[in-house]
Amino acid sequence: MKRVLVYLGFVLLLCGLLLASCSENQMTDKRGNYEWAEKRAAMVQQLRAYGSKDERVLKAMSTVRRHKFIPEKYLGVAPPYGNHPCPIGYDQTISQPYIVAYMTEKLNIQTGEKVLEIGTGSGYQAAILAELGAEVYSIEIIPELANHARKALTTEGYEQVKVLTGDGYKGWPEHSPFDAIIVTCAPEDIPQALVNQLKEGGRMILPLGVYMQRLVILRKKSGRIEKVDDLPVRFVPMVR
Ligand code: SAH
Repeated sequence: MKRVLVYLGFVLLLCGLLLASCSENQMTDKRGNYEWAEKRAAMVQQLRAYGSKDERVLKAMSTVRRHKFIPEKYLGVAPPYGNHPCPIGYDQTISQPYIVAYMTEKLNIQTGEKVLEIGTGSGYQAAILAELGAEVYSIEIIPELANHARKALTTEGYEQVKVLTGDGYKGWPEHSPFDAIIVTCAPEDIPQALVNQLKEGGRMILPLGVYMQRLVILRKKSGRIEKVDDLPVRFVPMVR
């Protein structure tokens, strides 16, 4: 009898350990990093509270490891999963998670669509687009950031994203036309080359202006451009 009880106790202990390790696994990311997975889940909770509803975008935001796109020496400057922009060096920032989710949601990216991003920065937004199944082309004017983004994208499993070191005002004519274009730095006026590289029915989202900036959403319909003003925002300038 005593033996049976000891045996039962042992089995129960094993079950308990197994359950505990399962529930912890649910919170760990693909490399078993518990803390960041928990922080990322909290970030997604906050996005929901702010009104993000697109489950595909929320899933991408809960999958992509934002802290891996922020250069290590800036990780301590601003918590990577807080709802604020984070510095990435060269006086540039990665947008706050809410704006990344918002702009991505507005573009309504479908699997297999060709998407151009202007302002690769850390590579984080490009990874979100890739996670949604888009074929991503991204242009960055600062060579060091372009290199950083290429490395981060590759180590995080998004090596298919193409990053060009160059001037986004010119777009990427060799790969045009694009189903969607996302600009993550603010020009004063809508760059005409980008409009030209948009497919019929294509969508573009960009912050426009110098001090008073607004997000603007464009759609090409029968060769004409429909333009809708959206949220007030604050982005780094799109430089020439
Ligand atoms: N999307 C990025 C954040 C972008 S910050 C991310 O997810 O991390 C804006 C970026 O636009 C900066 O890296 C800046 O160098 C770049 N940029 C500014 N002007 C540009 C231009 N004319 N062409 C391409 N990139 C530009």
